[in-house]
Amino acid sequence: MGKATSSTTRKISSIVLMIIFISLALSLTALVLAINFFKDPQVAGFLMVIGFIGAALSTYVLLQTRKRILRLRIETPQITTTIECKKCDFKNVREFQRGDYIFKEVEPCQKCNDKMLITAIYREVKQKGREGFPF
Ligand SMILES: [Zn+2]
Repeated sequence: MGKATSSTTRKISSIVLMIIFISLALSLTALVLAINFFKDPQVAGFLMVIGFIGAALSTYVLLQTRKRILRLRIETPQITTTIECKKCDFKNVREFQRGDYIFKEVEPCQKCNDKMLITAIYREVKQKGREGFPF
């Protein structure tokens, strides 16, 4: 479930990046054309304005998207390990550690000092508000 969501996000962000780079290229083209139209100040000025607005907007969107992707990357890998005591049913939940697997014997129970087993390993799904891209 979480996997599908993150790959969808990656797909969307690559489309967004493509749109950003195309508009950035078009803005630069407009600026170059403006220089070529220096004999016609009206056309040159118009192209300059389009070029600057386009460049500013695509840079802004690019920075916003980057921030969003970075935030997603930090929040995604949250894996939890559940440890249970067979004897007294004491349950402990902690962050997943390298080498954890189900039915692995881990540290002794805090209550009865008997051996505890890992009973579940799962990815924590954080219910956050749906966030779309800024357009
Ligand atoms: Zn116990």
